[in-house]
Amino acid sequence: MANELILIVEDNEKNRRLARDILQVKGYRILEAETAEIGLELAPKEKPDLVLMDIQLPGMNGIQALKKLRADEATRAIPVLAFTASVMPQDRREIMEAGFDGFLAKPINLKEFIASVAKALGGASGGDA
Ligand code: MN
Repeated sequence: MANELILIVEDNEKNRRLARDILQVKGYRILEAETAEIGLELAPKEKPDLVLMDIQLPGMNGIQALKKLRADEATRAIPVLAFTASVMPQDRREIMEAGFDGFLAKPINLKEFIASVAKALGGASGGDA
């Protein structure tokens, strides 16, 4: 059961394409946004099952965008995973304190990436790697 819709908010085209390709192979449907602003337009209309949110974005950053998603009745329940190269413990703590549902590291580790997405979507296929 992997036809869920996932919104990828990521300004780096290479990372965005890689994430999209991996998830499409797994059967997920994908929406892409290059900026938080575009992502915030898409989310209430398309009601994705999950959002992957880059932190460093041109314009609004991912933490600000998360707050907007959480402030809107239409999007507040959507799980949001931070998608970031930031591995410093204090950055990671800040990200989790902001209210993200989890953390996806860049560069992508294929197994971890797929497992984290499945878990965020409900864990139904979290066991098979
Ligand atoms: Mn970025």
